[in-house]
Parts: sequence; structure tokens; C-alpha cells
Amino acid sequence: MVILPESEHPIKAYGYAARDPSGSLSPLTFSRRATGEKDVRFKVLYCGICHSDLHFVKNEWGVTKYPVTPGHEIVGVVTEVGSKVEKFKIGDKVGVGCMVGSCRSCRSCDSNYEQDCSKQIGTYGFPNFDGTQTYGGYSDHMVSDEHFVLRWPENLPLDSGAPLLCAGITTYSPLRYFGLDKPGIKVGVVGLGGLGHVAVKMAKAFGAEVTVFSTTPAKEQEAIEGLKADHFINSKDVQKMQAARGTLDGIIDTVSGNHPIAPLLNALTPRGKLVLVGAPEKPLEIAAFSLIMGRKTVAGSNIGGIKETQEMLDFAAEHGITADIEVIPIDYVNTAMERLLKSDVRYRFVIDVANSIKAE
Ligand code: NAP
Ligand code: ZN
Ligand code: ZN
Repeated sequence: MVILPESEHPIKAYGYAARDPSGSLSPLTFSRRATGEKDVRFKVLYCGICHSDLHFVKNEWGVTKYPVTPGHEIVGVVTEVGSKVEKFKIGDKVGVGCMVGSCRSCRSCDSNYEQDCSKQIGTYGFPNFDGTQTYGGYSDHMVSDEHFVLRWPENLPLDSGAPLLCAGITTYSPLRYFGLDKPGIKVGVVGLGGLGHVAVKMAKAFGAEVTVFSTTPAKEQEAIEGLKADHFINSKDVQKMQAARGTLDGIIDTVSGNHPIAPLLNALTPRGKLVLVGAPEKPLEIAAFSLIMGRKTVAGSNIGGIKETQEMLDFAAEHGITADIEVIPIDYVNTAMERLLKSDVRYRFVIDVANSIKAE
């Protein structure tokens, strides 16, 4: 027997969902579980649109089960807490990022790397422990175990802070983990989109000298004047790429589409690190000698753990780091997705969920 999303759980919920690989989103009535003893229930105020949402609704990674309600840059206000919740009370501002569950007992979980847990439950499109699907933040409310709920810093704006819950932690974490968080260190950021522009702000806050690699020359002035990057290189300019040879200690590659990485490896100093966070559809091509000569590393990085996400939010609040955003109503989401695909946003769409979502 097929159980419909609206009758899986006792509490009615309302959101926007894609129903097939066209990725087109339309209203969906579904349901969420009752508040468990360790659960926090909150009304969604804002939700950022990450490029992963776009990959996912179009099934570009081949794992999507429909209907899918995306959204993992979620800020809200607590409406109910379970009897054993310790960290939150009704009225608190909170955030949820890319995870709402993990086993909590494996080596990764014990080391605060829940993002590496093999039983991690993604905020949307994942099977929950009870077998039902998770639904993300393009919806009226959420419920999550308090462990995966972040405390919202007092002075961090709710709308422009929301993208930090994915774009922020995904760039902050590899900068820290790979030692690219030191004053004077030379860091490259590839792709000036949602992740990339936050990466520039984070790296600058650590005191790094930042070079932006972009396919969009029109972003040069914004990168230098607005984001305070030190250098801007049009990655399609072969001569400029060649001139950058051997200059960077590390590179964070945030590009969502297929692109050559040989010129990026070339731009690293000996022992330099290229860290991939962008997730294009197709595998990369790497020549062995481009790593052998100079003992270079290619690595990947997946968001960050919950403890580090809280640390990142507090760091962002302290340093005044937010995303540059365009706030939209939820019924604009399909146009926003089309524009995101064309990199036509500076630099993150954020849905004003609370003021634009209406139950049917
Ligand atoms: P975004 O806002 O669309 O930014 C991506 C940027 O990459 C674009 O603005 C563009 O910048 C550049 N770009 C796009 N297509 C390109 C191509 N074919 N060749 C060269 N450059 C291209 O996307 P986002 O939200 O920042 O996400 C970026 C990627 O990170 C996505 O693949 C997403 O799924 C992934 N992601 C990974 C994690 C993780 O944990 N690892 C977390 C979140 C997102 P320019 O105009 O400057 O060239
Ligand atoms: Zn994301
Ligand atoms: Zn685990």
C-alpha cells in the first residue's frame, strides 16, 4: 500500500516540491511527525536556494526520489519543544543546515563529524529512521532532533545569514581543516557563486590573500571592491591562468558545472591543496604528473559537523559575515532556479518563506 506524503505523520505541513526530473516546483501538502521528546519544532522564516537543491530536483546525482521538497539553509523560530529538549525554548531563533540525523555513536559522530556518518540523514530527500522521507525548508515548518538545530547568534541577520547554514559551513570547514585559515596564506576560490562569495569573505576574515577564479569577467569589480578579494583571474584566459602558475597554497573549488582542473593544479605551489566542494555531474580528469610534481593534493570536503557549524555561525556574527542575497517570494522559486543555472544572481536567492507561503 502506498502511503501518501500527507498521511505519513499526524501534523500537516505545506511546501513546494518537484515531482519529476524537470525540477519544476509546485505546492505540496505533506506531513511531519509529532514533536518527540528531543525534538524542536519551528516555523520556517527564511530558506536559501543552494545549487545542490537544483542538482537534486533535476536528479543530476541519480539519487532523487520524488516528490522532493528541497531547502537546507533554513532559519526559523521555535514553536514547540519536546520534554527533554535542553538547548532551546519557544521563541528562540534557530537554524537547520544539511543534516537532521546521524547514528550519534560511530567514530565520525563521536569526533563531531556527523557529515561523514554512513547513517547521516540529509535534511531533504533522505529516508528518516522510520523509513519516511525527509522534507526540506521550502515549507511552512520543520521538526528536528535538537542536536541538529543551531543556536542563532543575536546579531546575525536572519535572511542574509540563512545561506551560512550550507554555503558558510561548506567553505569555512575546508579552510580550517586544510590549514588555509592563516594570515597571509594564499588562497584561491574558483566560481563566484553562492559558496564562492562566502568563501572569499571567510578567507579574508582569516587574513588570507585571496584570488578569485571566475568565468564571468563582469564579476571582477564586485569581487575586488565588494568582496575585498585581492586578485581576480578570468579562468577562460589561458595566458592569465598560466601566469598564476605556482602561486597558491590552497584552492577551494566551488564550481557546479564540468570544468578543467589541470590549470588549477598548475596554480598551486608545491605541496598545495586543491579542495573540491562543488559537485559537477561528470568525473574529473587528472594527469598523474600534475600531482606527482610538487606533491600536490586533490581533496574533497562535505559541509561540516554540527559543532563546527555553530562555531562558524558565531565566527560569522563576530566578523559581520553574511551572504549577499536577493530575497524572493516562494512562488518565484522556478524562475530563481532558472536564473541560478545561468549564474544570474548576486549571490544567493533566499526565500521569504513565512511571508509568502500559503496553505491550500
Ligand atoms: P552557484 O551559486 O550556482 O555557484 C557556482 C558558480 O560556479 C557559478 O556562479 C559560476 O561562477 C561557476 N560555474 C558554474 N558553472 C560553471 C562551469 N561549467 N564552468 C566553470 N564555472 C562554472 O552554486 P553554489 O550554490 O555555490 O554551489 C556550487 C556547487 O557546490 C554545487 O555543485 C553544489 O551542489 C555544491 N555544494 C557542495 C557542498 C558540499 O558540502 N561539498 C555543499 C553545498 C553545495 P563564475 O561565474 O564566477 O564562473
Ligand atoms: Zn547546499
Ligand atoms: Zn555516526
